[in-house]
Amino acid sequence: MKVFLEGLNCANCAGKIEKLVGKMPNVRAASLSLATGSLVIDEGEGFAQEETYDAIVKLVHSLEPHVVVSKNRKRSAAAEPCGCEGHSDDDHAALAPHEHGQALGDMDKRQKLELITAIGLFMLGFVFQALLPANLEVITIGVFLGAYLLAGYRVILLAFRNIGQGQIFDENFLMTIATFGALVLTEWPEAAGVMIFFGIGEYFQDRAVDNARRSIAETISFNAITANRVGPEGEVVIDAKLVKVGDVLVIKPGEKIPADGVILQGLSHLDTSPLTGESYPRKVEKGDEILSGMINGNAVLKVLVTKDYENSTAMKIMHLIEEASDKKGKTEKFITKFSHYYTPIVVFSAIAMAIIPPLLIPGASWETWFYQSLIFLVVSCPCALVLSIPISYFGGIGRASKEGVLIKGGNYLDVLYQSNVFVFDKTGTLTQGEFKVIKTVPATGFSEVELLAAAAAGEHYSNHPIGKAITAYARQDVDENRLKNYAEIPGKGTRVEVDDQVILAGNKSLLQDHQIGVAENNEAGTIVYLAIDNQLAGYLVLGDMVKESAFAALQQLKKLGVRKTVMLSGDNSQVANQIGKQLQLDEVRGDCLPQDKVAAFEKIKLDNKDGKTIFVGDGMNDAPVLAMADAGIAMGALGSDAAIEAADIILMKDDPMDIVKSVDIAKYTRRIMIQNIVLALGIKITVLTMTFFGMGEMYLAIFADVGAAILTILNTTRILRYRGFWQKRR
Ligand code: ADP
Ligand code: MG
Repeated sequence: MKVFLEGLNCANCAGKIEKLVGKMPNVRAASLSLATGSLVIDEGEGFAQEETYDAIVKLVHSLEPHVVVSKNRKRSAAAEPCGCEGHSDDDHAALAPHEHGQALGDMDKRQKLELITAIGLFMLGFVFQALLPANLEVITIGVFLGAYLLAGYRVILLAFRNIGQGQIFDENFLMTIATFGALVLTEWPEAAGVMIFFGIGEYFQDRAVDNARRSIAETISFNAITANRVGPEGEVVIDAKLVKVGDVLVIKPGEKIPADGVILQGLSHLDTSPLTGESYPRKVEKGDEILSGMINGNAVLKVLVTKDYENSTAMKIMHLIEEASDKKGKTEKFITKFSHYYTPIVVFSAIAMAIIPPLLIPGASWETWFYQSLIFLVVSCPCALVLSIPISYFGGIGRASKEGVLIKGGNYLDVLYQSNVFVFDKTGTLTQGEFKVIKTVPATGFSEVELLAAAAAGEHYSNHPIGKAITAYARQDVDENRLKNYAEIPGKGTRVEVDDQVILAGNKSLLQDHQIGVAENNEAGTIVYLAIDNQLAGYLVLGDMVKESAFAALQQLKKLGVRKTVMLSGDNSQVANQIGKQLQLDEVRGDCLPQDKVAAFEKIKLDNKDGKTIFVGDGMNDAPVLAMADAGIAMGALGSDAAIEAADIILMKDDPMDIVKSVDIAKYTRRIMIQNIVLALGIKITVLTMTFFGMGEMYLAIFADVGAAILTILNTTRILRYRGFWQKRR
């Protein structure tokens, strides 16, 4: 089950919700992503959906009353009357929490007003302190207390409510004790000041988190808002969500394509960049398939919808990226663990600090150490990290999507960052996979016509690049009624029966399996043999070209520190070796059956002890290896469901250079995370040390605490604006 929490910006609460939901009956595990606000529940046996959902709603509202819980974010966002302009533009609200959701907006406004009033009182307090005579001090204290309560009553209430639930170490609680302590010491302005700064900090922190999420959401929003449907009453503008299979749509110049379909009429150029990052316009005309998310160019198109809005490419990709944040990266997991220990440790140090030094150091004042221990409490929330790390991962994923690279989880960014061996498939991965038949050689006793007829029948149902090339070359009308028992033999070829003839099309190994002898063959290219009723009928030679950027990409990978590049190909060794040489690969293996690829890959992975092993394939005959790799990267996913399923990372442009870009983005994301960790911990350690030596100041502490949180979040958004090496040179 998946539940959405909108408006959740508090790191501590997120951790708590995750933990408590994980302990609910029949829940195996729960994972809450702060980046998107989605809570994924791993259902155990006997899981009761409705009850758990109700329990979650109750739990969330008790911890964070303003958070909106829903089962389906999109529906709830659309269903809420939202009374604000520009909402239509907001389909990517899927990812951007609704700042303007009714309940949330009101709350925000009231809170802001209270905070501003508190600030006013706070300043008035100082004026009174300066001007009023000592015997009227009560008034000054009253004003400060007013400011304190106004700014802090929510925090105090929440703290008590949470203690009631056995949740002690949260920021509300820490602020509450710190300020109670200040009150005990009769430091009235201090108490008020801490609550006010805390409030201001939270406000800006929320804003920063929202903005970061929103810009990521914008980066990866692909879908159209409206569609022009042609009906009996003419053209009507409808909500894009309502588009169904069979609808006829009119798409005007500049409009986003709302759903996948086939062009009925018109010729235009499409901007595919929202999906692929590639702005080079793609020419389309009648009969061509178009995908949702692309932008129509210069002319009007009439399109027959072949997939509902929800099942169209743009939505599928958006779901994919959204789900990506459910798979947490290592650093994120580490930070969660870290924060479980950090807070209690600081709290206990604070207690120790209040008690031990005054006992041990002669003449030390209880009051001073008590005050200093309060400062410790103030900096004991690891919010900066808990907030910024998940957002960093999500930012990295968003940034990669701008290049047409879909990364299915933060954990794969970690893998890319540590990758040092890359294993490639050949056909369709390093080569274009656009085979052309360059030669036909009938065997003695067979004519060219017979050879091609057999080839056309053999490859009629094949989706392999080789099969498609042969069908295109043979140009024959194949009567499907005569074809029977078609079978693909992975890594070898095909078998089909025409009437009662058995046709085999494939490589040497396929023929050898049927005891058909094949002579040594020195043709330069990929050879497809044909056999009719176990008789060699001849062969076709196919040529394929290396992808334009393949060489440069392999070189760049080396520059980024990749130790070894390998190619495993099902094609014959001659072709494989020749391409290996051309691309300067470190290792090449040809004649691999799918299971050979698995075995070879397994060994490479095992041998690679100091890094991660990546496999890059096209989803044809290499799904098992894609799944085995630390990260499987698939080519050619635009519209191909199989590859989207099997791979962890998908290159929508089929461009090997995008692998390098992803590694680069992963490294940059990593760098930002390290910066954030150093920044946040650095500030805290500085404050703690200063405090220990008596130079601490409660204002300073809280300022440092929220300041660090905001700085790290702002730093994180730099990932989205990252300009990689491929952009710098030009
Ligand atoms: P690669 O590793 O080069 O991508 P594949 O594993 O997809 O290769 O295929 C390996 C080999 O199997 C091809 O080179 C070809 O000889 C043979 N083969 C696979 N499918 C077909 C087909 N449909 N028709 C003919 N030969 C095929
Ligand atoms: Mg292949």
